[in-house]
Amino acid sequence: MTQTVAIRARWMLVPDGARQRVETDRWVLVEDGRIAAVTAGRPGADRAIDVPEALVLPGFVNLHNHGISALLFRGIVEDRPTASWAADTVYGLIMPLQGLAMEVLDAEELRAATALGLLGLVKGGATTTMDMFRIAQSVSFDVADELGLRFYGMPYLFSTEDLGIGEDGRPRYAARGAGESDLARASALFDAHDGRAGGRIRAGFGPHGTDSCDPDLLAGIRDAASARGAKVTVHVSQSATEGETLHARYGRTPTEQLAHVGLLGPDLVAAHCVYASDGDLDLIGEAGATVVNCPASFARGAVSAVWQRTAARGVRTGIGLDGYAMDTIGELRTAALVSKLASGLSEDAAARDLVAAATVDGAAALGRDDIGRIAPGCRADLAVVNLGGAHLAPVSDPLKTMVWHAGTADVEAVIVDGRVVVEGSRHLLVDEDAIVASGAAAVRKVWAEGLARGYIREGEIV
Ligand SMILES: [Zn+2]
Repeated sequence: MTQTVAIRARWMLVPDGARQRVETDRWVLVEDGRIAAVTAGRPGADRAIDVPEALVLPGFVNLHNHGISALLFRGIVEDRPTASWAADTVYGLIMPLQGLAMEVLDAEELRAATALGLLGLVKGGATTTMDMFRIAQSVSFDVADELGLRFYGMPYLFSTEDLGIGEDGRPRYAARGAGESDLARASALFDAHDGRAGGRIRAGFGPHGTDSCDPDLLAGIRDAASARGAKVTVHVSQSATEGETLHARYGRTPTEQLAHVGLLGPDLVAAHCVYASDGDLDLIGEAGATVVNCPASFARGAVSAVWQRTAARGVRTGIGLDGYAMDTIGELRTAALVSKLASGLSEDAAARDLVAAATVDGAAALGRDDIGRIAPGCRADLAVVNLGGAHLAPVSDPLKTMVWHAGTADVEAVIVDGRVVVEGSRHLLVDEDAIVASGAAAVRKVWAEGLARGYIREGEIV
C-alpha cells in the first residue's frame, strides 16, 4: 500500500494562471506519487512533515548541470586570472580534469564522485536536474536513481577526442565524422535508460557545443533526438572565442549554426548564451527554445551572465547551476545580484520571477506541465524550506526572504515523485557520510594526477 504524506505550509507557492502566488496556512497531501489535494485543514495521512515556518514550493528544476564538476574544481578554479581564463582554466583545467576523472577513476570511484556532486544538489531542494556528462560517466543514471532525483541525463557528444586549443587558439576538431561513435553510444544510452524508475529517469542528447561538434554530427543528433522524442541540450555562446571560431569556420553565429543544422526548436535547452547577440536571442525565442542562465559559474570568471537580458526579450530563461555551487537558492540570489548590477536597476530579476524560472519555467523547458507546480494531479516534487531561522525571521515576503537570505542548510525536506528523499535536512535514502568520504577520496586521486600533469598548479592544493 502506498504511504500518504501530509506537508504543512505556513506559505505555499501555487499556480495562478501562468504566474504563481503565495497562499498561507495550507496542507498538501501526497498520494501515489502525485499531489492529491491542497487543503486548509490537516488531511489524514500516514506521515506528516510539520515545520511551523515552512515555505513549500515546487522542487527546483536545475536545467544545466555537470554532476562531477562541482567537486573537481571546488576551491581551485576561483581567483585564477582573467587574462588566461579560456586557455589555462577552461581548456587547461576544467576540460582536461573532467577527462582525467574518466581515465584514472575506477567504476566505484567514479560512482562515488558522481554521488557526492548530486547529493548536494538534492539537499539544496533541486528535484529535477538536466545533467551533461561524458559518455564514460553513464553511472550518473544509476546514481541519480539511487538519490531519488528526477533526472535528464544528457551524455556529451564531441567531434573530437582531442579537447584542447589548437595553435590558432581555437578548439580542435578531429576529422569529420569522428563524432559518429559518440552518436551511436549516446543513442544506446538513451535506449537503455530513458523511462527508468517509472519515468523519473530520462535521457537525451548533449552535444558539447557548436565549436566542438561539426555540422554533420549536429544534424545527426537532430535526427536521433527527433526519432526518439528526446530533448537536446548544448552550450551556446559561452565564450567570445566560440563565436569567433564559428564565424571563421562557417560565417555564422553559434545560434545560426544550430538553426542551420535543424537543432533549434522547442526541444532545445541552450545553456548560457552569454555572448549571443540580440538577434540570436530573438531566433531562440521564436523557435520556442529555452536559455539557461548559470550566473555563479560565470561570475567566478568575472563575466556577467544576465538573467534579465534574455527574460526581458521574452525568451524562456531557466536557471542552472552548471556544476558549480550546488545551492539553487544561492544561485537565484546570484542571478538577482548579477542582473541588478548589470543594469543598475534594482527592480530587475525580482525574487518571484527567479523562483518561477527555477520551477514552472524550468518544467516548461522540459515540455512538462505535471512538475514545477503545486496542484492536484501533478507529480509530487516539492521543496520545504524552513524560514524559521534567526537569519530569516521575521518573514514578510517568503519568496524574497528565501532568495535573499536563505540557503541549502534551510532546506528541511525534499519530496520527489511522492517519495520523501530529504527530511530534517538529511538524505534518507543514502549514507551521506559514506558518500562524502568516498567521493572526496576519489576526487583527491584526480587532483594528484592533475598536479602531476600540470593541469593543477603547485600551491593550488594545500
Ligand atoms: Zn556546462
